Amino acid sequence: MNIVLIGPPGAGKGTQSKLLSERFSIPQISTGDILRANVREKTPMGLRAKDYMERGILVPDELVVEMVVDRLSQDDCARGFILDGFPRNVKQAEALEETLDKSGKKIDAVIGFEVERRELVRRLSGRRVCRKCGATYHIIFNPPINIDVCDRCGDELYQRDDDKEETIEARLKVYEEETLPVVEYYKKRGLYKGVNGIGSVDEINEAIVKAIG
Ligand code: AMP
Repeated sequence: MNIVLIGPPGAGKGTQSKLLSERFSIPQISTGDILRANVREKTPMGLRAKDYMERGILVPDELVVEMVVDRLSQDDCARGFILDGFPRNVKQAEALEETLDKSGKKIDAVIGFEVERRELVRRLSGRRVCRKCGATYHIIFNPPINIDVCDRCGDELYQRDDDKEETIEARLKVYEEETLPVVEYYKKRGLYKGVNGIGSVDEINEAIVKAIG
Protein backbone atom coordinates (compact mmCIF):
# COMPACT_ATOMS: atom_id res chain seq x y z
CA MET A 1 0.00 0.00 0.00
CA ASN A 2 1.43 3.36 -1.08
CA ILE A 3 0.11 6.24 0.96
CA VAL A 4 0.79 9.98 0.97
CA LEU A 5 -0.02 12.16 3.99
CA ILE A 6 -0.56 15.84 3.28
CA GLY A 7 -1.25 18.53 5.82
CA PRO A 8 -0.01 21.78 7.26
CA PRO A 9 2.79 21.74 9.85
CA GLY A 10 1.39 20.70 13.22
CA ALA A 11 -1.52 18.75 11.74
CA GLY A 12 -0.37 15.42 13.20
CA LYS A 13 1.21 13.78 10.14
CA GLY A 14 4.22 12.51 12.09
CA THR A 15 2.17 10.91 14.85
CA GLN A 16 -0.27 9.29 12.45
CA SER A 17 2.34 8.10 9.97
CA LYS A 18 4.18 6.25 12.75
CA LEU A 19 0.94 4.49 13.73
CA LEU A 20 0.12 3.59 10.11
CA SER A 21 3.66 2.33 9.61
CA GLU A 22 3.22 -0.11 12.53
CA ARG A 23 -0.27 -1.13 11.50
CA PHE A 24 0.56 -1.93 7.88
CA SER A 25 4.24 -2.90 8.45
CA ILE A 26 5.49 -0.48 5.82
CA PRO A 27 8.11 2.24 6.32
CA GLN A 28 7.33 5.84 7.18
CA ILE A 29 9.34 8.21 5.02
CA SER A 30 9.46 11.65 6.59
CA THR A 31 11.47 14.09 4.47
CA GLY A 32 11.65 16.49 7.45
CA ASP A 33 13.17 13.75 9.69
CA ILE A 34 15.67 12.70 7.01
CA LEU A 35 16.70 16.30 6.42
CA ARG A 36 17.05 17.02 10.16
CA ALA A 37 19.27 13.92 10.54
CA ASN A 38 21.45 15.23 7.69
CA VAL A 39 21.68 18.66 9.32
CA ARG A 40 22.67 17.05 12.64
CA GLU A 41 25.34 14.94 10.97
CA LYS A 42 26.54 17.89 8.88
CA THR A 43 26.40 15.92 5.62
CA PRO A 44 26.73 17.89 2.34
CA MET A 45 22.95 17.66 1.96
CA GLY A 46 22.41 18.81 5.54
CA LEU A 47 24.70 21.80 5.05
CA ARG A 48 22.76 22.84 1.95
CA ALA A 49 19.34 22.30 3.57
CA LYS A 50 19.99 23.95 6.95
CA ASP A 51 19.38 27.58 6.03
CA TYR A 52 16.11 26.87 4.19
CA MET A 53 14.82 24.81 7.10
CA GLU A 54 15.67 27.47 9.66
CA ARG A 55 13.74 29.99 7.59
CA GLY A 56 10.74 27.67 7.30
CA ILE A 57 10.86 27.57 3.51
CA LEU A 58 11.17 24.59 1.18
CA VAL A 59 14.53 22.99 0.51
CA PRO A 60 15.20 23.00 -3.29
CA ASP A 61 13.28 20.32 -5.17
CA GLU A 62 16.32 18.66 -6.75
CA LEU A 63 17.76 17.83 -3.31
CA VAL A 64 14.54 16.49 -1.85
CA VAL A 65 13.37 14.62 -4.95
CA GLU A 66 16.67 12.77 -5.28
CA MET A 67 16.55 11.87 -1.62
CA VAL A 68 13.02 10.45 -1.92
CA VAL A 69 13.68 8.60 -5.20
CA ASP A 70 16.68 6.96 -3.57
CA ARG A 71 14.71 6.02 -0.45
CA LEU A 72 11.80 4.56 -2.45
CA SER A 73 14.19 2.31 -4.36
CA GLN A 74 15.24 0.52 -1.17
CA ASP A 75 14.00 -3.01 -0.54
CA ASP A 76 11.82 -2.20 2.45
CA CYS A 77 9.56 -0.05 0.22
CA ALA A 78 8.68 -2.95 -2.08
CA ARG A 79 5.48 -3.74 -0.14
CA GLY A 80 4.52 -0.11 0.30
CA PHE A 81 5.37 3.13 2.06
CA ILE A 82 3.93 6.12 3.85
CA LEU A 83 5.19 9.46 2.62
CA ASP A 84 5.04 12.13 5.34
CA GLY A 85 5.92 15.66 4.21
CA PHE A 86 6.41 14.87 0.52
CA PRO A 87 5.28 16.02 -2.03
CA ARG A 88 5.17 19.63 -0.81
CA ASN A 89 4.60 21.31 -4.18
CA VAL A 90 3.23 20.35 -7.60
CA LYS A 91 6.70 19.81 -9.09
CA GLN A 92 7.46 17.24 -6.41
CA ALA A 93 4.08 15.57 -7.00
CA GLU A 94 4.88 15.26 -10.72
CA ALA A 95 8.35 13.89 -9.98
CA LEU A 96 6.85 11.30 -7.63
CA GLU A 97 4.30 10.21 -10.22
CA GLU A 98 7.03 9.85 -12.82
CA THR A 99 9.24 7.77 -10.52
CA LEU A 100 6.41 5.46 -9.51
CA ASP A 101 5.31 5.07 -13.15
CA LYS A 102 8.78 3.88 -14.07
CA SER A 103 8.58 1.03 -11.59
CA GLY A 104 4.96 0.19 -12.36
CA LYS A 105 3.73 1.52 -9.02
CA LYS A 106 1.04 4.02 -8.08
CA ILE A 107 -0.27 5.92 -5.09
CA ASP A 108 -3.24 4.21 -3.49
CA ALA A 109 -4.49 7.04 -1.28
CA VAL A 110 -3.63 10.61 -0.34
CA ILE A 111 -4.81 11.52 3.15
CA GLY A 112 -5.24 15.24 3.79
CA PHE A 113 -5.32 16.57 7.36
CA GLU A 114 -7.76 19.41 7.83
CA VAL A 115 -6.96 21.64 10.83
CA GLU A 116 -7.62 25.36 11.26
CA ARG A 117 -4.74 27.82 11.42
CA ARG A 118 -5.22 28.96 15.04
CA GLU A 119 -5.04 25.38 16.30
CA LEU A 120 -1.86 24.74 14.28
CA VAL A 121 -0.09 27.73 15.83
CA ARG A 122 -1.14 26.52 19.30
CA ARG A 123 0.17 23.03 18.63
CA LEU A 124 3.47 24.06 17.02
CA SER A 125 4.44 26.73 19.54
CA GLY A 126 4.08 24.27 22.45
CA ARG A 127 5.69 21.28 20.75
CA ARG A 128 8.77 19.67 22.28
CA VAL A 129 10.71 16.83 20.64
CA CYS A 130 13.09 14.23 22.09
CA ARG A 131 16.61 14.61 20.75
CA LYS A 132 17.17 10.89 20.80
CA CYS A 133 13.99 8.97 19.96
CA GLY A 134 11.95 11.70 18.24
CA ALA A 135 8.91 11.33 20.55
CA THR A 136 6.82 14.50 20.56
CA TYR A 137 5.10 16.27 23.46
CA HIS A 138 3.13 19.45 23.99
CA ILE A 139 3.87 21.59 27.03
CA ILE A 140 0.15 21.92 27.84
CA PHE A 141 -1.83 19.21 26.00
CA ASN A 142 0.61 16.32 26.32
CA PRO A 143 3.33 17.27 28.80
CA PRO A 144 6.15 14.92 29.82
CA ILE A 145 6.24 13.78 33.48
CA ASN A 146 9.45 15.74 34.11
CA ILE A 147 9.90 19.02 32.31
CA ASP A 148 12.27 18.76 29.32
CA VAL A 149 12.86 15.00 29.82
CA CYS A 150 11.49 12.31 27.48
CA ASP A 151 9.15 9.84 29.26
CA ARG A 152 10.12 7.13 26.81
CA CYS A 153 13.93 7.22 26.76
CA GLY A 154 14.97 9.82 29.37
CA ASP A 155 16.82 11.99 26.86
CA GLU A 156 16.50 15.76 26.57
CA LEU A 157 13.50 17.46 24.96
CA TYR A 158 14.01 20.52 22.79
CA GLN A 159 12.03 23.00 20.76
CA ARG A 160 12.68 22.77 17.02
CA ASP A 161 14.14 26.04 15.73
CA ASP A 162 11.39 26.18 13.14
CA ASP A 163 8.69 25.83 15.84
CA LYS A 164 9.51 29.33 17.09
CA GLU A 165 6.75 31.83 16.45
CA GLU A 166 8.34 33.86 13.64
CA THR A 167 9.12 30.72 11.61
CA ILE A 168 5.70 29.14 12.17
CA GLU A 169 4.09 31.95 10.16
CA ALA A 170 6.53 31.41 7.28
CA ARG A 171 5.83 27.66 7.25
CA LEU A 172 2.07 28.16 7.21
CA LYS A 173 2.40 30.62 4.34
CA VAL A 174 4.52 28.11 2.38
CA TYR A 175 1.87 25.47 3.01
CA GLU A 176 -0.94 27.69 1.75
CA GLU A 177 0.92 28.89 -1.33
CA GLU A 178 2.88 25.80 -2.39
CA THR A 179 1.31 22.71 -0.83
CA LEU A 180 -2.41 23.45 -1.14
CA PRO A 181 -2.15 23.19 -4.96
CA VAL A 182 -0.96 19.59 -4.38
CA VAL A 183 -4.31 18.89 -2.70
CA GLU A 184 -6.02 20.04 -5.91
CA TYR A 185 -3.60 17.92 -7.97
CA TYR A 186 -4.66 14.76 -6.11
CA LYS A 187 -8.35 15.72 -6.00
CA LYS A 188 -8.31 15.83 -9.79
CA ARG A 189 -6.87 12.33 -9.84
CA GLY A 190 -9.55 11.06 -7.44
CA LEU A 191 -6.97 10.07 -4.83
CA TYR A 192 -7.56 12.71 -2.17
CA LYS A 193 -9.39 11.86 1.05
CA GLY A 194 -9.74 14.63 3.62
CA VAL A 195 -9.73 13.75 7.31
CA ASN A 196 -10.62 16.00 10.24
CA GLY A 197 -7.34 16.52 12.10
CA ILE A 198 -9.03 17.61 15.35
CA GLY A 199 -9.72 14.87 17.89
CA SER A 200 -7.84 12.22 19.83
CA VAL A 201 -4.92 10.38 18.23
CA ASP A 202 -7.04 7.18 18.16
CA GLU A 203 -10.07 8.87 16.62
CA ILE A 204 -8.01 10.41 13.85
CA ASN A 205 -6.21 7.13 13.24
CA GLU A 206 -9.52 5.34 12.88
CA ALA A 207 -10.77 7.95 10.40
CA ILE A 208 -7.60 7.54 8.32
CA VAL A 209 -7.80 3.75 8.28
CA LYS A 210 -11.44 4.03 7.16
CA ALA A 211 -10.52 6.54 4.44
CA ILE A 212 -7.78 4.26 3.13
CA GLY A 213 -10.48 1.58 2.86
P1 AMP B 1 8.66 18.97 8.50
O1 AMP B 1 9.37 18.23 9.55
O2 AMP B 1 7.92 18.09 7.53
O3 AMP B 1 7.79 20.08 9.05
O4 AMP B 1 9.80 19.70 7.61
C1 AMP B 1 10.69 20.62 8.18
C2 AMP B 1 11.38 21.43 7.10
O5 AMP B 1 12.12 20.56 6.23
C3 AMP B 1 10.44 22.19 6.17
O6 AMP B 1 10.05 23.44 6.69
C4 AMP B 1 11.33 22.35 4.92
O7 AMP B 1 12.30 23.35 5.10
C5 AMP B 1 12.05 20.99 4.89
N1 AMP B 1 11.28 20.00 4.10
C6 AMP B 1 10.66 18.87 4.56
N2 AMP B 1 10.08 18.19 3.56
C7 AMP B 1 10.31 18.92 2.42
C8 AMP B 1 9.94 18.76 1.06
N3 AMP B 1 9.20 17.74 0.62
N4 AMP B 1 10.38 19.70 0.18
C9 AMP B 1 11.14 20.75 0.57
N5 AMP B 1 11.50 20.96 1.84
C10 AMP B 1 11.09 20.06 2.77
